[in-house]
Amino acid sequence: MSHDLVHARVREHLGRLRLGHLAERLDALLREEIGAKQKKRVSMGITIAHFPAVKTLEDFDFKAQPSVDSKLVRELATGRFIAQAENVLLFGPPGVGKTHLAIGLGRAAVEAGHSVLFTSATALLAALAKAESEGALKDKLNYFAKPKLLIIDELGYLPFEKRSAHLFFQLVARRYEKGSLLITTNQLVGQWGGVFGDDVLAAAILDRLLHHSHTVLIQGDSYRLRQKRKAGLLGRSAPPGNHG
Ligand code: ADP
Ligand code: MG
Repeated sequence: MSHDLVHARVREHLGRLRLGHLAERLDALLREEIGAKQKKRVSMGITIAHFPAVKTLEDFDFKAQPSVDSKLVRELATGRFIAQAENVLLFGPPGVGKTHLAIGLGRAAVEAGHSVLFTSATALLAALAKAESEGALKDKLNYFAKPKLLIIDELGYLPFEKRSAHLFFQLVARRYEKGSLLITTNQLVGQWGGVFGDDVLAAAILDRLLHHSHTVLIQGDSYRLRQKRKAGLLGRSAPPGNHG
């Protein structure tokens, strides 16, 4: 029986028993209960996701990064792409907010009710390689195949060993059309042959990643350096408190 139906019946009984006031209170109580459960579920999901920092889409300054398609990011935040097992690729140079957006989208996915796991590409490959050497590759692949959204941060910062590239391919193939990947990278697609040390393997990986995917291209300067530069400029032109 659906919750709505149970709720309607309980209200009906309460009405018959002339407990109208209680029926009114029931609504508020149930809403409170649902709110508390949702909060608990979200905080548990965030713990399980292992985000490396607390970042949200709300504190991402879209005006500071006009190259980011904020409309697309808002659409991705609904989690619909996860329901359809589509992928997201975030491209951009260091410091432009890729990890920030990845965490923000990951949190939004948890809030939308999806299981999420965050890992760096380096940690992912180290875990797969270790599992393989211990004869436990299948279990590890299952572990990384399970979450509805797997976030892989910093792909391409370090080139892959031949074996690692193959392990990565196995993971991508396993998740293909079953679960979403969100990947951040500083390497444009044309450079992925170099990242994986093998053009054929890179093409096979890209083929699966890009088939159902959304890409976010971030251009511009490092946000961190820009903040520093801005602080420096302000310091030179007008000492703090001396303007306005
Ligand atoms: P990347 O992963 O692209 O190297 P990060 O996401 O780590 O960059 O961003 C570097 C730092 O700058 C982080 O502390 C991040 O929160 C902050 N940052 C970057 N872009 C923005 C932005 N547009 N609004 C708010 N903070 C930002
Ligand atoms: Mg980063």
